[in-house]
Amino acid sequence: MSSSSQARPFDRYFLTAQTESIESYQEAIALTQELIVNNILQEDKPYFGLNPSLLQESFRDFCPKNFTQQDYPQIEPELAEIIRHGAMVTHPACVAHLHCPPLIPAIAAELIIGSLNQSMDSWDQSPSATILEQQLTRWLCDLFGYSNSADGTFTSGGTQSNLMGLLLARDNYAKTHLKWHIQRQGLPPEAQQFRIFCSDVAHFTIRQGAAILGLGENGVIPIETDENFQLKPEILSAKLRTLQQDNLRPIAIVATAGTTDFGSIDPLPELAKIARDHGLWFHVDAAYGGALKLSQNHGHKLKGIELADSITVDFHKLFYQPISCGAFLLKNQANFGLIKLHADYLNPESNEAQGIPDLVTKSIQTTRRFDALKLWLSLKTLGVETFGEMIDSTIELAGAIALIIAEDAELELANIPTINAVVFRYQPSQGTATEIDRINEQIPKKLMLEGKGIIAQTQVKGRNYLKFTLLNPLTTLKDLQKLLIEIKSLGQTLHTTDINHELKKNC
Ligand SMILES: *Cc1c(COP(=O)(O)O)cnc(C)c1O
Repeated sequence: MSSSSQARPFDRYFLTAQTESIESYQEAIALTQELIVNNILQEDKPYFGLNPSLLQESFRDFCPKNFTQQDYPQIEPELAEIIRHGAMVTHPACVAHLHCPPLIPAIAAELIIGSLNQSMDSWDQSPSATILEQQLTRWLCDLFGYSNSADGTFTSGGTQSNLMGLLLARDNYAKTHLKWHIQRQGLPPEAQQFRIFCSDVAHFTIRQGAAILGLGENGVIPIETDENFQLKPEILSAKLRTLQQDNLRPIAIVATAGTTDFGSIDPLPELAKIARDHGLWFHVDAAYGGALKLSQNHGHKLKGIELADSITVDFHKLFYQPISCGAFLLKNQANFGLIKLHADYLNPESNEAQGIPDLVTKSIQTTRRFDALKLWLSLKTLGVETFGEMIDSTIELAGAIALIIAEDAELELANIPTINAVVFRYQPSQGTATEIDRINEQIPKKLMLEGKGIIAQTQVKGRNYLKFTLLNPLTTLKDLQKLLIEIKSLGQTLHTTDINHELKKNC
C-alpha cells in the first residue's frame, strides 16, 4: 500500500509495520513530547489566569462546523493553548484537591496502554493484560492483608469502587436475609428499609451510590464524628439499637480511611467489630488513605482494614498515577457471583469451565482500560520503599505547615492532619462571620485568576475554609509559606473589595 499514489487518506493514522505508519507515529509522539516540555514545564504558574469566559473566547474557533484534514503541525498552536491553560498539577502551588502529579513511568505506560489498546473485559482482547492485572490484584490483596480467598478488579476510581461495595452489600443482604436475588428480581419490597452507615464527613459517593442502587440518599445515615473527624462508634451502636425498634434494616457500615477534607481515618477495628456483631457488610473507603500501606511509618494507621468485606483504593491519588486508576478489593471472591453475567459473545460459561479468565465477570464496566500496567510499571521502577518515602515526605510537610498555620494569628487551623490535607482559614481580627466566609470563599478564586496558586475551599460546621492537599512530594515548606503570604495579603485586600464581578467579566 505504501506507494503514495495508492495511499488512502486514512492509512497513515494507524500503527502498522509500514514505514509511513511508523514515521507518522513517531512524528506525533515527538511533537507531543515537545509540546509538553515547552508548555507545561516552562510554565512558572500553576494556572495561566483566564476566567471561564475569557477562555471560552480564546477557544472559540477550536471546534469548527466542519473538521477538515490537517497536519499535526497546523494543529500545534491550538494544542499548545489547551496545554497552557490547564491546571498544572506538577506545579508546587497546585495544592487544591486529591489530584496528583503523575509519575513519569506511569505516563510512559499510558503510551503503551493506548498503543496496544487492550480491553480487559475478555481474555481474547487482552491476554497478557488480563494475567498481569490478576497478578497485580493478587499483590494488592496481600498488601491489604487479605487471604487467598480475596480477589479484586481495577476500576475507574473511588466512585465506581464505592458503588461496587454498596452493590455487593445490598445484594448479599437480600440473598442471605430475604432469599431474594436482586440481580434477577430487582429490589425487594424491604429495600425501603435498608440503611447504610457512614460518618458525617464520608465521601458524597456513598450517598450517590445508595441513590443509584435504588436505596435513596435517605438510606444513608450519617454518624457524628469527634473533634478529629473520626466516626464515633458509640453513636453508631446507639443508632443501630434504635433502628431495630423502627423496623429498619441496617445492611452495611462504610468506614473512611482518609476523609477527603481532613485525611481522618475512622476507627477500623471497632467498626469491624460492630459490623461483625450485627452481621453487616463492612466496606472501607480507602480511596485516599489506602496508600499508607506503602509507608513503613504510617502503614499501622490502617490496622483493621483487613477485616473489611470490601475495600476501595484509588491509584490516581496517593499512588501518583495518571487519571483514571483505582481498584475494588473483595475479601470473599465468591461474592463477585452476585453480579456475574454471561454474554455469549464475550464470556460464555464454557470459557469459565475451560479456565479462560474473562474479567468482565468481576466488573460493572465492559470495555475497560489496561490501567494496571501503569501502576505495575511505577512499582517496578520506583520500588515500594521509594513510594513509602514519597508519602512520608508529604505527611511531614503537612505537619510542618499545619504548625506554622496554628501559630499565625491571622490564620485558623481546622485539623491536625492525619495524612496530608490541611484545612484552615484566613481569620482577620475584625469582621462578621458572613464577611469572613465571603473572604475565604473568594481567596481560592482570586489566587487562581492571579496564577499564584490553586487551593481548595471547603466547609467546616457550615463555615467556609481553605484547604491544601499536599500530594506533591516536590512541594516544599518554602512554597507553602509563600502561598500563605499571598493568602493573607489577599485576605486583607478582600476585606475592602468584593471580586465577584472579576469572575464573570469579559475582557
Ligand atoms: C476521591 C475519593 C472518592 C471518589 O473517587 P474518584 O476516584 O474521584 O471516583 C471517594 N472516596 C474518597 C474518600 C475519596 O477521596
